[in-house]
Amino acid sequence: MILNDPSLLHEQCYIDGLWVSANSGETVAIANPATQELIGHVPVMGTAETKTAITAANKALPTWRALSAKERSQKLRRWFELINQHADDLALMMTTEQGKPLAEAKGEVTYAASFIEWFAEEAKRIYGDTIPGHQADKRLTVIKQPVGVTAAITPWNFPAAMITRKAAPALAAGCTMVVKPAPQTPFTALALAELAHRAGIPAGVFSVITGDAIAIGNTLCESPIVRKLSFTGSTAVGIKLMEQCAPTLKKLSLELGGNAPFIVFDDADIDAAVEGAMIAKYRNAGQTCVCANRIYVQAGVYEQFTQKFAAAVAKLNVGNGADDGVNIGPLINQAAVAKVQSHLADAVAKGASVVAGGKAHSLGGLFFEPTILRDVDKSMLVAKEETFGPLAPLFKFDTVDDVIKQANDTEFGLAAYFYGRDISLVYKVAEALEYGMVGVNTGLISTEVAPFGGIKSSGLGREGSKFGIEEYLEMKYICMSV
Ligand code: ADP
Repeated sequence: MILNDPSLLHEQCYIDGLWVSANSGETVAIANPATQELIGHVPVMGTAETKTAITAANKALPTWRALSAKERSQKLRRWFELINQHADDLALMMTTEQGKPLAEAKGEVTYAASFIEWFAEEAKRIYGDTIPGHQADKRLTVIKQPVGVTAAITPWNFPAAMITRKAAPALAAGCTMVVKPAPQTPFTALALAELAHRAGIPAGVFSVITGDAIAIGNTLCESPIVRKLSFTGSTAVGIKLMEQCAPTLKKLSLELGGNAPFIVFDDADIDAAVEGAMIAKYRNAGQTCVCANRIYVQAGVYEQFTQKFAAAVAKLNVGNGADDGVNIGPLINQAAVAKVQSHLADAVAKGASVVAGGKAHSLGGLFFEPTILRDVDKSMLVAKEETFGPLAPLFKFDTVDDVIKQANDTEFGLAAYFYGRDISLVYKVAEALEYGMVGVNTGLISTEVAPFGGIKSSGLGREGSKFGIEEYLEMKYICMSV
């Protein structure tokens, strides 16, 4: 990995404005999932270092929250600009540690930066309320104040954006934050810290620690100083963290697993539906929490959709994400490959057939062929579990009521998509889908200006948009007698 600015690559953590090693000196090696080559090492930190980061965040809080919104906004704006200036390096770093194609990595850097730009602006619009008094001598106001010290635990599938989506509203609101990135993708997180430092974000306001997830997680959850935890990851870990946060009654934002349905009705524009399905299914090799997990196609267009979808999938280029023209990189690790394989084998054993792909890619390693299965039904694992890989199962349905029932038949409720043109059907389906986000005639819904988040076992809270900053604010009601 040859960076234009090699000083973006840090093999130490960023705590209280300083680059530091683990107390034990212990480090862990990080490898490129496309080539298995060593990228570098990062510290294995634990309880003691996490406490140091929390103490630093607490120490930095009074000064940071006392800045005017405009002053905080200007620092965030500078951070946004620096991320964009170093977009090529950040994208290369991300592709190298995570595997996604370079074009997608660049897209993520822009997306990640957009949250900082957005919340730099929102910082200035944290309005309160005045309420007509309940008695003649009473004056009632509501002010918004930062919740205080916050923590974030983030996943590997969006190594930059999952951090900025949390840190930007936190810092904009006047909170400070300790971030524990995913073990697979520490370098992008540490590079963001380097740029935060260069942007003049003061020591302790934003710290990044790598290492023992359980020890760091326990310490963040147990700390009475940390007033809020924002987590993106699996539902199982989200539940565990919620339990761990219960004794200190922390505020929580949890962005957890999904099992997105993608529905194609008979009257849909099939070419548009194929294009949307390609993005919703194969982006990041199928490793996003809003990836289409179950594709339901109405009987009248099932054959046509299957054929056109297979033709589009045949054009996908699997390889090292750093190489030109690659659309699908490696999966993140062997467990991810094994999960795709187990869903595939289970479906085939129960009667599904392979239309495209269907096995590990000839490149070996963590590469898997983009796969389509047809004649899939609800008895199969793919109907119930998030595959998180490049496997598209095609279900056939007859009626609107039936597909809505099937689409909602899951504990998850993050994203759903559908393609159709009948306007009354569109509204009815959009309302009936039990999901936090619905894409209608589009396969790409993520943007900093809209509220991202789920219901049911997909989590709590929303990120992005004017609503995102509320998660980092407390309201205070002031009753004054005059
Ligand atoms: P994935 O399976 O996609 O890696 P996880 O939910 O396991 O999803 O991981 C998401 C994030 O949660 C990562 O940063 C990981 O290190 C962290 N994590 C996993 N287990 C724990 C835990 N017990 N306590 C705190 N953090 C955890």
